[in-house]
Amino acid sequence: MSTEFTNPNLKVLYSPAEIAQRVKELGTQITAEYAGKDLVMIGILKGSCIFLADLIREIDLKLTIDFMAVSSYKDDTVSSGDVEILKDLTNPIRGKDVIICEDIVDTGLTLFRLTEMLGSRGANSLKIATLLDKPEPRIKKDLKIDYCGFQIPNKFVVGYGLDAANRYRNLPFIGVVKNPAEA
Ligand code: 5GP
Repeated sequence: MSTEFTNPNLKVLYSPAEIAQRVKELGTQITAEYAGKDLVMIGILKGSCIFLADLIREIDLKLTIDFMAVSSYKDDTVSSGDVEILKDLTNPIRGKDVIICEDIVDTGLTLFRLTEMLGSRGANSLKIATLLDKPEPRIKKDLKIDYCGFQIPNKFVVGYGLDAANRYRNLPFIGVVKNPAEA
């Protein structure tokens, strides 16, 4: 591994092998539960790109993919939970069986608003898959997560799609940032 991958400010939480094993399990479960359905996997950019890419290759079904980009106004007021669509889906989801694919659920506000918005578009079903779930800071406690890779403690993590100031998304592992000021 390069020196970037052995950054002393990062502590490995899940190794590439552990992630691959868990993603395979989720893919097997989704394959069984969506047989015969018109499955659309929606990746929320940018964080979910690697999770989505790996997960869909573990799903043995004729699915389609689409992407959305959103921005949350968490800096202004955490409780507002306002979400702006920066890039919308390319195709309609009416009548489709949709799984929204996220990198991490923290307060739950982003996915709560997103499911509200997509929920009005006539999908046959709408479920949530997230690689990581950080339950401690959850504000939307009733948000239902249907497929979860790992539940993690309330720490800031990077890698496998997750960033700090847009860096570290390419790390093959998930790492905890020991000192976020130096990330
Ligand atoms: P929520 O609306 O659930 O609070 O926000 C989820 C979003 O916050 C994620 O999609 C991600 O962009 C960001 N986020 C929350 N926790 C972390 C973390 O530990 N690491 C990184 N890199 N992003 C996080």
